[in-house]
Amino acid sequence: MSASGWRVRLPCTRAEAEAIPFADPFPDAADPPTLLTDEPDPARPDEWTLDAYFTATPTAADLAALTALAPSAPPGSAVVETLADTDWVTLSQAGFAPVRAGRFVVHTAAHAAAVRVSDIGIAIEAGLAFGTGQHFTTRGCLIALDRLARHRTRHRVARIADLGTGTGVLALAAAKRWPRAAIVASDIDPVAVRVARGNIRANAERTGRSRGAIDLIVAPGAHHPRLGGPFDIVTANILAGPLIAMAGSIAPTVAAGGTLILAGLLTSQASAVAAAYVNRGLRLIARIDTDEWPTLVLRAPPRPGNAQDDGHDSDADN
Ligand code: SAH
Repeated sequence: MSASGWRVRLPCTRAEAEAIPFADPFPDAADPPTLLTDEPDPARPDEWTLDAYFTATPTAADLAALTALAPSAPPGSAVVETLADTDWVTLSQAGFAPVRAGRFVVHTAAHAAAVRVSDIGIAIEAGLAFGTGQHFTTRGCLIALDRLARHRTRHRVARIADLGTGTGVLALAAAKRWPRAAIVASDIDPVAVRVARGNIRANAERTGRSRGAIDLIVAPGAHHPRLGGPFDIVTANILAGPLIAMAGSIAPTVAAGGTLILAGLLTSQASAVAAAYVNRGLRLIARIDTDEWPTLVLRAPPRPGNAQDDGHDSDADN
């Protein structure tokens, strides 16, 4: 019987599990493992599991990298299993139940039937990139985009940027809500950009540098000539530290009257992240609380004499 994959399972805490999407544990791997976390028993919120699916036998270095993600795991608690004759990628994704956020439904191909007529479906075949809709931060950003689309219809949305695009899920949501906008989606990780390209294709959206298309870029933060703005909407679901560090380069890319959606931060970090952007002239107009991962919605000041751009509209009511 030939092995088609290996699974390493480790116990971890919820905090460790929630930090994993933002870590980069296998920076040099050509084929890094797919990482999945699960909370087997909601009554025991600190007894999560971390599963890593490998296509080749995990090495000692792989195990060390995994253990570093779950420092609470007792020594020797990693269980390595061979998955024989199974399509393990399908197996690992079959568990992804469709996620609803506003009108958006993020689903895998296996769950396409979950999309109802009034929904906006986003098909994501993730594996190596973050953003299947399962994480609270993605959900918060989708809710923010959905509210923006519903409440700001009189505002022109011509250019959108999605920094740290991962699977491309937020760029896809934006493309479906603002089909004529030119969208730039970037990630520091070339693997994520490759995954995003596949997902854009699977959703029958276009890549490229024109209206109605998504321009994919590998870049850190806003450091790329095509990420200079001005953008009517910027989404950045990254992490509190980088968001604060990059405030000086991200804030100026938001157009007058434009909206910035930030996530990847914990409740305890929200005021520091907001302050970094408020200090650069933006105003916090809404906060969407999904579990301990709030999403911040900020607005750039309107052009002088253009009062209708001013922020206190109905999406400030969260
Ligand atoms: N936008 C997706 C993915 C968020 S995960 C969603 O909302 O679900 C965060 C992503 O940011 C990862 O893909 C990671 O590679 C990327 N990232 C981390 N630091 C970055 C930086 N400094 N610049 C750009 N992307 C970054």
